[in-house]
Amino acid sequence: MTAYLFEPPKIQSLPVEGEEARYPVARIFCVGRNYAAHAAEMGNEVDREAPFYFTKSPQAVLESGGVLPYPPGSQDVHHEMEFVVALGAPVFKATRDEAEAAVFAYGCGLDMTRRDLQQAAKDKRRPWDLGKDGEGMAVLGPLTRAEIFGPVRDQRIYLGINGETRQDARLDEMIHDVPAIIANLSLYYHLGPGDIIMTGTPAGVGPVTAGDRLMGEIEGLAPVSVEIGPAQ
Ligand code: MN
Repeated sequence: MTAYLFEPPKIQSLPVEGEEARYPVARIFCVGRNYAAHAAEMGNEVDREAPFYFTKSPQAVLESGGVLPYPPGSQDVHHEMEFVVALGAPVFKATRDEAEAAVFAYGCGLDMTRRDLQQAAKDKRRPWDLGKDGEGMAVLGPLTRAEIFGPVRDQRIYLGINGETRQDARLDEMIHDVPAIIANLSLYYHLGPGDIIMTGTPAGVGPVTAGDRLMGEIEGLAPVSVEIGPAQ
C-alpha cells in the first residue's frame, strides 16, 4: 500500500439515476460562449469555428441539493445553467461517431461564476481561474444514462430562482453540439471515463444573493438545485 504524507483529497462523485454505483469525477471541462444569445448579452462575438474551454478542479463539485456559501472574494456571483455531459469511455482525436459513443450520461449543472473577477481577468488579459474555479462552484445534479435520455434534440433548459424564471432556452440553440465539443476537445486530451463537460450557458445569466434557491431543469433529466448561503 502507498504511504501518503497526509490524507489524499476525497474523490468527488455523482449519483446515477436508478443505480447504486456512483460516477467518480476526474476532470471538469467547461465550454465558453456556446449559445449566441448569451455571447451577445456578454458583449462578445460568436466564434463558430471552434469551441474554447476553461476548467474547474474536481474539488469544485457541490452535489445538487446542498448549500453554496456565497463564494469569497466576489460581490457579483452569477448563475449559469448548463447541460452536462459525462464520458464513459476513452476517446482521443475522435470522429463525431466515436465522440457520441463515448458519452455515458447527461445531467444538469450550474457553472457558478464570480463575474466581477472574470471580467477583471478579461480586461487584464489574465486567466479566468478566480472567476470560475472555486469551492462548490460546479453544482452538479444526478446523471441519467445517455441511452435513457435518448438523442439530444430541442429539450428545454431552464433555471428558476425562488420560483422566478431566469434562463429558458432549448438545447438545439448550442453553437457546438455534443459530438462536436467532444471531438474537438479530444484533439488536446486523452479523454476518458470520469471526465465531465459543462457545455455552456444560454442567455439570462445574472447575480445571486444569500437565501436564493436555484432550481435548474432540462427535459428528461433529474434537476439540479442549490441554496446560496451567507458569505463565510
Ligand atoms: Mn459556463
